[in-house]
Amino acid sequence: MPPHWSKYFSNLLALLLGFTLAGALVGYAAIGLVIGLSLALIWELSQMYRLMRWLNASTTSSEVPESIGPWRDLFDGIHRLQRRHLRVRDQLQAEVNRVQDFTDAMRDGVIMTNDKGVMEWWNGAAEYLLGFRKNSDRGLYIHNLIRTPAFKEYFDRRGYKEPLQIPSPDKPHIQLQLHVSPFGDDGRLIVVKDITRLVQLEQMRRDFISNVSHEMRTPLTVISGYLETMVDYSDQLPSKWHRAVNTMYQQSSRMEALLTDLLLLSKLETGDQLVDDRVTNLKPLLEQICQDARALSADKAHLINLTVGDRHYLRGDESQLRSAFSNLIFNAVKYTPAGGSITVNWATDKQGGHLSVKDTGIGIDAVHIPRLTERFYRADPSRHQETGGTGLGLAIVKHVAINHDGNLDIRSEMGKGSEFICHFPRARLAEQPVTEDQKNAD
Ligand code: ADP
Repeated sequence: MPPHWSKYFSNLLALLLGFTLAGALVGYAAIGLVIGLSLALIWELSQMYRLMRWLNASTTSSEVPESIGPWRDLFDGIHRLQRRHLRVRDQLQAEVNRVQDFTDAMRDGVIMTNDKGVMEWWNGAAEYLLGFRKNSDRGLYIHNLIRTPAFKEYFDRRGYKEPLQIPSPDKPHIQLQLHVSPFGDDGRLIVVKDITRLVQLEQMRRDFISNVSHEMRTPLTVISGYLETMVDYSDQLPSKWHRAVNTMYQQSSRMEALLTDLLLLSKLETGDQLVDDRVTNLKPLLEQICQDARALSADKAHLINLTVGDRHYLRGDESQLRSAFSNLIFNAVKYTPAGGSITVNWATDKQGGHLSVKDTGIGIDAVHIPRLTERFYRADPSRHQETGGTGLGLAIVKHVAINHDGNLDIRSEMGKGSEFICHFPRARLAEQPVTEDQKNAD
């Protein structure tokens, strides 16, 4: 037993004995004991009261009350627990402050919301980039702060594979890239990056290509024109010039085709050539392209087969669609050996409309397929001289599909053939437009 406990018990014993003996002296030993016990009980209750008051008032600085025996141990034990608890709390607070400092030092915005979009926490960069206010925006719906419809649609969608690009709602000159990731049971973490510089560089690159192509076009047209005349009158030229003039003419024609494709691609990318929402009848369009493809095939005598489903009206830009479809069909002619067959099919289903161009040609190795729509990417560079392509065809097809809310699907097997499918959403399908004559007849 610790020494201060002996003191406590000896004091208690002395109190009880003292009152019992004093009671015995006057003939009431039992009453003396009861008085002693009552006093001991009152003292215990007073200690309990002190404990309660101390616990209620207890702050880090409040003194531990003095006491004896088990009460002293109780006060000291509780005080130790309190100090340990405060130490852990200070450590946790320091960690939280560190995380806060670290997220505030980040250049990227970080926002935490629940799955409904209720704002729970965000860092300093998010405040700057999106104009959130620390004190008043907590608990608000993020859709009320970022009102761009594309953001609402993106946030409400469950899959967040791709990031979203929008201008800042607070500083419209800043371009932002937002990427949402779900976490925990119902949390959403939104990382916001400032990509203004990247967007400007991309724009400069497009403008540069577009300007250079434009500037080179006029001199090249003049050179090609003169070369064409020289080819036409080659019988008047010394024979040693024939080969040189023919090669120069072929190469200048190739360069012209390249510039035309580059200009078209940069227009498609910059959105200069906005999709015309008039209705395009795909049947005559595809018939015309297949006829041109037969002329291109010439001696190679490909079997070109076209089938067009009943719903063949598409909301979209006829000239863009013509470029995309002719690139696919002419590629099939270029990359299919003589006598092979090419099947062009337009069909519709619940998902939308699908244009498939299938050939029995050389096929493409699976490693190349993900990169085929990059500019100038060629699966077999050794062949491009033979085919005379620009290497931009599939990039054009991809952009036309994107401009029409669709996408390009490529399937191929080496040596067996390839299938290129342009998918268009259901919303793009249209009914046959009413002609002026029909309107007048009504
Ligand atoms: P190119 O002008 O070289 O044809 P494209 O962008 O149209 O450029 O096509 C890119 C590459 O994809 C081609 O160089 C070729 O290797 C491959 N390719 C395209 N279409 C086919 C096809 N139908 N069959 C086999 N390979 C193809």
